[in-house]
Amino acid sequence: MDKLTSIKGIGEKTEQMFMKLGISNVQELVEYYPRNYDICKEPIDICEIQSDNIQAVYASIASRVDVLKNGKRTITKTIIRDSTGEIQVKWFNMPFLKNTLRIGQKFIFRGLFQKVRDKLIVTQPEIITIEDYQKRLYNMQPIYPLTKGITNKTIISAEDKVLNSKKYYDEFMPDWIIEQCNLAEYDFSIRNIHFPKDEQSLHISRERLAFDEFLLFQLGVYQLKEKKNLTPNNYVMKEVKDSEKLIEELTFELTGAQKRVLDEISKDLSGPIAMNRLIQGDVGSGKTIIAAIAMFVAAKNGYQATIMAPTEVLAKQHLESLAQLYSNYNIRVDLLVGSMTSKEKKLVYEKLRNGEIDILVGTHAIIQEKVEFLNLALVITDEQHRFGVRQRESLSTKSTNPHILVMSATPIPRTLAIIVYGDLDISIVDELPPNRQKIKNCVVNKDYRPKAYEFIYKEVGLGRQAYIVCSMVEQSEEIEAEAVIDYVDDLKKCFNDSINIEYLHGKMKPKLKNEIMSRFAKNEIQVLVSTTVIEVGVNVPNATVMMVENAERFGLAQLHQLRGRVGRGKHQSYCILINCKENKKTKERLEVLNNSNDGFYIAEEDLRLRGPGDFFGVRQSGQIEFRLADMFQDINILKKASDIAKQLIYEDRELEQLNNFGLKEKVVNYLSKNVNNVNI
Ligand code: ADP
Ligand code: MG
Repeated sequence: MDKLTSIKGIGEKTEQMFMKLGISNVQELVEYYPRNYDICKEPIDICEIQSDNIQAVYASIASRVDVLKNGKRTITKTIIRDSTGEIQVKWFNMPFLKNTLRIGQKFIFRGLFQKVRDKLIVTQPEIITIEDYQKRLYNMQPIYPLTKGITNKTIISAEDKVLNSKKYYDEFMPDWIIEQCNLAEYDFSIRNIHFPKDEQSLHISRERLAFDEFLLFQLGVYQLKEKKNLTPNNYVMKEVKDSEKLIEELTFELTGAQKRVLDEISKDLSGPIAMNRLIQGDVGSGKTIIAAIAMFVAAKNGYQATIMAPTEVLAKQHLESLAQLYSNYNIRVDLLVGSMTSKEKKLVYEKLRNGEIDILVGTHAIIQEKVEFLNLALVITDEQHRFGVRQRESLSTKSTNPHILVMSATPIPRTLAIIVYGDLDISIVDELPPNRQKIKNCVVNKDYRPKAYEFIYKEVGLGRQAYIVCSMVEQSEEIEAEAVIDYVDDLKKCFNDSINIEYLHGKMKPKLKNEIMSRFAKNEIQVLVSTTVIEVGVNVPNATVMMVENAERFGLAQLHQLRGRVGRGKHQSYCILINCKENKKTKERLEVLNNSNDGFYIAEEDLRLRGPGDFFGVRQSGQIEFRLADMFQDINILKKASDIAKQLIYEDRELEQLNNFGLKEKVVNYLSKNVNNVNI
């Protein structure tokens, strides 16, 4: 494989940067696809601007350029104007603009225009001269996923050089598949996915490459399925008397679904083959107790078990409930999270190695190299879609073929699950605990906001608590943080001082986040304004209101997750979705949530309403990571690939026929890189 440094202009330093993106050679670079494209269109009048779109206006600086300092950040503000209107502009950490921009100067300002509480503003727009803009008009510029230290320009230039240095990328797909599925050629597709000639070329190229991904994935799954059946159970577990007692002592009766899933797990643990199971269950369906009992069985059999959660807040919550659950059973539970001091961590490492911890609860910190177990037999990943492929994989390499359990609260339609989870056994918790109050929903427009505040005020007066989520899609964490802070400032003016309002966003230090969350859990904070960081698994039963600003910007599945934060206690709970877009499609979409609290139904409807082909929409946080394909939006391509995979397996299982040879090579290569992706 050609090294990156073989490309002119790429030295060792840049190579290091590319490594951070998971690109270590030329081929991986070529397969690093843009996440979107930027097309510069003609500038429009300010009065025609639409919220939530990237647009360009040709306008002049209309007011003094002010620089405000806010802690470490600076905000540079001004107003721009054309003959049809004016609009506020903000830049973060670019104070030097004060010296370069003068009142009356005219530029193209291009950026994302958004309504922040009814006022249209543009944040961080590019400032371009009209001459430069002419050159960029209608070009499709790729936008690549980035990481700190590497710019989009660097990647564009590298891709450009690599593609130009090669005359032709050989076709590996057999002719009959290309014909049957009407696919674009590989060479054409790989060039056009990076630098599309036009939208049509992009469309067919993307379709082709998405097809490749699905097909390789499925052929890979077939291969693994055979292998998996050979993974013996290294940690055979006996039934444990105490676990019946533990279940009896619970303050509630397990649901039928919980009992069924526990049964399936217990068969796995005692059977001849290592467990490799996915538990899918809606928010609040009670997956934690299932995990807790499985780990209990492992511990009582003399093994270690571990559960990894995506956030410290959640990990701590798990620790507390497990410690309480096991309190009469002499089980040693401990915690490992990033914010612990190195001294505290060292102690945990030691205890783990010596077998002085039976059950470890933690975050990504668990997969650090230094963490070694004595006899780890069961690994559980909670909210698995929140983890990267590598992270999930590292967890299961902490031992030799441990039992694997992954838990997911993102229901995916059954039709898809069967295709996508070919190699996993699936347990579904399709029953909510009884006596759950149904959450009352409403979808309203922004005029309702004062009423919503009044309502929250009343609930707080009754001793309850509320979440308000305000988040921007496809924005930087910095801008999100800004929006949340502004929101709280305004909200405080509406409420009196006796109510504690705090905010939470992704830019905050984990320690501070934990602090805020635990104060919220203790009802020291009554209203929590947040970005979607609270989406995952948090349990505060006293919270009864979930209000979501700009609900139209979210996917249904995500809104459903957010809503799952309330309705967890004995009080009636409410979900208020503020819809700021008056169009029929949005309304119809949000109505689905309004009418149903069933996650599986919502997932099906989401798929139906968005339909395939609606690409580059809001990307689902899928269960399996594809580079480019999206199993929701590309369901038709997925089905095509699935049919072809079946046909191939039927006709030429080992892919040994001459015309399938190129494909075989790709599958082998794919598996060597993605084995853990396929395996989850
Ligand atoms: P999730 O599936 O979203 O992880 P949790 O495991 O956090 O859900 O459970 C949500 C709440 O429901 C918890 O407070 C838990 O104690 C409670 N719970 C779980 N199972 C039952 C049950 N069978 N009956 C009543 N309450 C239950
Ligand atoms: Mg959970």
